[in-house]
Amino acid sequence: MVRQLIRNVILDETNERYHLIIKDGIFEAIEKADDMEVDAENFDFVFDGKGRVAVPGFVESHIHLDKALIADRLPNRSGTLQEALSVTAQLKSTFTKEDIEERAEKALQLLIKHGTTHVRTHAEFDPVGGFHGFEVIMDLKEKYKDYIEMQVVAFPQEGILKSPGTEDLMRRAMEMGADVVGGIPYNDSDIEKHLEIVFGLAKEFGKPIDLHQDFFDSSEKQTIELVARKTIEHGFTGRMGVGHLTSLGDCSGQKLEEIIALMSEAGISVMSLPMTDLHLGGRSDEKNVRRAVTPIRKLRDGGVNVVLASNNIRNPFTPYGNGDLLQVAMLAIPVAHLGGADDLPTVLPMITHKAAEAIGITNYGFTVGNPGTVVVLDTKRYQDAIIDIPKRLLSIFKGNIILENKDQVYLNLP
Ligand SMILES: [Zn+2]
Repeated sequence: MVRQLIRNVILDETNERYHLIIKDGIFEAIEKADDMEVDAENFDFVFDGKGRVAVPGFVESHIHLDKALIADRLPNRSGTLQEALSVTAQLKSTFTKEDIEERAEKALQLLIKHGTTHVRTHAEFDPVGGFHGFEVIMDLKEKYKDYIEMQVVAFPQEGILKSPGTEDLMRRAMEMGADVVGGIPYNDSDIEKHLEIVFGLAKEFGKPIDLHQDFFDSSEKQTIELVARKTIEHGFTGRMGVGHLTSLGDCSGQKLEEIIALMSEAGISVMSLPMTDLHLGGRSDEKNVRRAVTPIRKLRDGGVNVVLASNNIRNPFTPYGNGDLLQVAMLAIPVAHLGGADDLPTVLPMITHKAAEAIGITNYGFTVGNPGTVVVLDTKRYQDAIIDIPKRLLSIFKGNIILENKDQVYLNLP
């Protein structure tokens, strides 16, 4: 039996201190520090947070590990989505299994190093490139299972109908153990048929769906209403996630309210990806360049679960990023007007609890009986957990100590 004590940590906006006890990888007790007598001698491991904030790990709800860290190989000079797609397609033909493995593993370690404990990654395949990348990601999921919980999305980047043979490959990916059916309606020839194939596979394998919804600056070609209606029709309420959805940023008034109400009814989660959307969006604007990010506050206020994720780390879609979700959240604060007194407290959940909900993790959080996963941040006020961009002092995943930065806590200062 292994027992670990994480003492004097702040878990919520009350800023009260708690003690956490993990026994054999599971939370055994979570109590206010004042209410619990603890004797450090009874534990195999003790960490004193001294009033620092702890979160149950960061949740990266949308990332592409298989095409991370390629920005230096072939640049996307225009910064447009079109060039990002064509540059990536060229590069993909040069990827070997070893190359993908090396980069994906490095990207995964960047996430872990920054306190990410859960990740949903889109892994692609196509009739030309085959399953090299997909197999690498499935192997990493197994190799890192004691360090991070990974969900793999079967992702048809080049479209399904546009790229004949892809439907069969998707079925094979699901048989190989993919956790989620992916889709990319904005990059296919027939959106209705694309969606029917995706819903069909999700039903066949009993899995949720995660779509790359759209990447448009304008709302003219939005299809989120169609997706929401189909989600209800096919009985996928609460099991649909959509990434980007930048077209909604161009919607307003009654129309926007109607769409948001429909999305809320369909239980759709939105993964906003501001690092990518800001880089690729609004490229045709000569002045007052649009932010091209989905309307995060309006979605949130309309009852839609809206969360924040990275999408990419250093590639033609996103030529920066270091795998730190706190930096993504920090970027979203000014971009989406989330810095107000009432808004700021809603941001941290977008990379923790709300993100966990978006990807269907049910045993997440500081509850007795849940996996003993905790990340301690070097900040002393819950409300500052993002804007301090604090160092990660401790990361424990299911009782497994992954990161411990004693220097930060035990600085010999008053
Ligand atoms: Zn993506």
